[in-house]
Amino acid sequence: MTTYENFSLDIDADGIALITWDMPGRSMNVLSASSMGDLEAIIERIASDAAIKGAVITSGKASGFCAGADLSMMAGNSGGGADSEGDDRVKKLYENNLHLNMMFRRLETCGKPIAAAINGVAMGGGLEVALACHYRVVSDNPKIQMALPEAKVGLLPGGGGTQRLPRLLGAAKALPLLLQGTSLSPQEALEIGLVHKLAPAAQIVAEAKALVKSGEAVQPWDKKGYKIPGGTAHTSAGSVFTIGVAQLHKQSHGNYPAQKYIMSCVYEGILVPIEAGLRIETRYFTKLMLDPRSKAMIRSLFLSMQELQKGARRPAGQPAFTVRKLGILGAGMMGAGIAYVSAQAGIEVVLLDTDLAKADKGKAYSVKLLDKALAKGRTTEEKVAQTLSLITPTSDYEALRGCDLIIEAVFENRQVKAEVTQKSEPMLADGGIYGSNTSTLPITSLAEASRKAENFIGIHFFSPVDKMQLVEIIMGQATSQETLAKAMDYVKQIKKTPIVVQDSRGFFTSRCFGTYIGEGLAMLAEGIKPAIIENVGRMTGMPMPPLALNDEVALDLSYKVRQQTKKDLGDKYVPTPADPIIEKMVESLGRIGKKAGKGFYDYASDGKKKLWPGLSDLVPVTRDIDDVDVEELKQRFLYIQALEAARCFEEGVVTDVRDADVGAILGWGFAPWTGGPLSLIDMVGPRVFVETCDRFAQKYGERFKPSKLLRDMAEKGDTFYGRFAPQKAAA
Ligand code: NAD
Repeated sequence: MTTYENFSLDIDADGIALITWDMPGRSMNVLSASSMGDLEAIIERIASDAAIKGAVITSGKASGFCAGADLSMMAGNSGGGADSEGDDRVKKLYENNLHLNMMFRRLETCGKPIAAAINGVAMGGGLEVALACHYRVVSDNPKIQMALPEAKVGLLPGGGGTQRLPRLLGAAKALPLLLQGTSLSPQEALEIGLVHKLAPAAQIVAEAKALVKSGEAVQPWDKKGYKIPGGTAHTSAGSVFTIGVAQLHKQSHGNYPAQKYIMSCVYEGILVPIEAGLRIETRYFTKLMLDPRSKAMIRSLFLSMQELQKGARRPAGQPAFTVRKLGILGAGMMGAGIAYVSAQAGIEVVLLDTDLAKADKGKAYSVKLLDKALAKGRTTEEKVAQTLSLITPTSDYEALRGCDLIIEAVFENRQVKAEVTQKSEPMLADGGIYGSNTSTLPITSLAEASRKAENFIGIHFFSPVDKMQLVEIIMGQATSQETLAKAMDYVKQIKKTPIVVQDSRGFFTSRCFGTYIGEGLAMLAEGIKPAIIENVGRMTGMPMPPLALNDEVALDLSYKVRQQTKKDLGDKYVPTPADPIIEKMVESLGRIGKKAGKGFYDYASDGKKKLWPGLSDLVPVTRDIDDVDVEELKQRFLYIQALEAARCFEEGVVTDVRDADVGAILGWGFAPWTGGPLSLIDMVGPRVFVETCDRFAQKYGERFKPSKLLRDMAEKGDTFYGRFAPQKAAA
């Protein structure tokens, strides 16, 4: 046996080398500089050692085959643009990637048959290694995922994925997998032709060796007479590209460079021999890595998100806490969702409402979701029964005795919340904590009803709870670090992503998110045609246009929040152009949104919606498409949110740039291609951002006035990630 830093190589009696990938000190294999160095040496050994007749590459990790490229290494190399034509960094990026591609090419042309024995997850670079092998055998475990997910974090597969996948499957089947980063189960991978064989885990190596012994050392595309399945753009597959480009633009509005470049790699790459195709891929890969959007996306969508999930914001030195028994007050939409995700994590849940029928209805939500999962084959009857047995509906406070955590999700009403707090708090176990899921009421004021304000914290979920990944944790004035650590441990238990914010009106997410809708209403008040407002909203990369979104969250809710804010702020309230529109819609027209079937849109019974024609009587249209600057409207939508996020940062509502950016993307879907609102300001450059906002403030109102911090950053040439760089390692 030969050992390398990350691999071992063991030749059997038949001359088949078993190459086992097992990186020391890591729970999962990744394609890092050091594993690539080893692979290169191993490929040369296979090619030159006459004793080796063929090889099988497998993993020594129970966790899987390989999770892909080491993204922290990629983040370090990305972004910033080129300084000049001859920029060294560009050259290095290009050469390093071409080197990797030529190394994989050497693997498939070394003259000996190679198979990959895939025992678990094979993502990105991991799957690209397997694609460069002549055969792939996968363990037949339906939980295994195989994908080239690079596009999801703003990258493109740069290890030959854009060339081998279409050569193997044809462009029509390969493009969706490349553009959307779709994961395939082993069965799906077999059906589509990505892998050759499924086998029980214990037999994959033996099966792979059998294929190597009887197989050839030639990839399909290196055989004489090979033709791309389905043809190229110049033959039968032309429509795949023309329709594909149109669809891509419809979905991405040109915001995501990765998808566009992936399309080009496939289109151009399959017209030429594979080695030229690999060079084309490398060229686009380099171009993409230099795009600041890629850097921002890798950082927020992958690195920061992972750091927050691992507890980067958890106070250090606090002992680990496990919630065994959870009490939920209020079995409505939110309570029912929290019960579901908690029981799924194996936590015993007591679900309390004012009467048993309401509590039962809350549990019925879990029954519905689990039945759906069962019908789709995603769970088993035993698992369903086990999860449901963990949820006890009740109206009896006594059932809450011994809870490690109680989360309140009753009506958004101070009195009701105070009453349930007082009744349930004494039932907490020693060391137990109390969380409120309020969306708007300041935590410090709700904690006044508590006997132990230091144990009282905001645990703000998003709807629908089972789909939304974010939990906004809100510190009241008296909340202790111990309580924060415990709340974060609970969020980790249910596998969600926490951000930590300080108490303030609307906390972080609701406060910033409101500005997007507000800007749409301001444009409406300016006489801009509603369809233009909605289309431009979509073009920014926000998941929904602003008027449709306002219908979705309900206009009466916006109305109530405004009334309350006016009351609370008195003279300090700054009226917005949206106020009179919302007032008319709610007070005199009763058009309160989707739930009433009418708001800015009319909703048909089949769920289809159409902009309400009467809107133009309420607010006359004075500006059509030839009288608006679309780019400026796009900037207004994004900058107004980014300004609010920056204010939250300056006021200390958010204290970590990762919380702001990840919270914005996961919480209200802030245009992911920007990497988040603070990343957007960094990308535009604070100086240009401030100049643009000053101009907007003159034209559209004080709401665009940049805060002091932004002006200071603009003056000093600082950025958020430069000046407030978070600690990289998880606490
Ligand atoms: P909901 O009206 O669907 O549910 C509230 C539940 O609380 C009802 O089942 C009601 O019977 C019950 N309840 C009322 N008084 C009670 C009492 N005294 N004791 C026990 N149960 C009582 O409301 P929801 O949308 O689930 O919202 C609940 C809380 O979550 C609110 O504070 C809301 O602001 C917050 N929230 C809502 C959302 C959302 O999108 N709906 C998102 C985040 C947070």
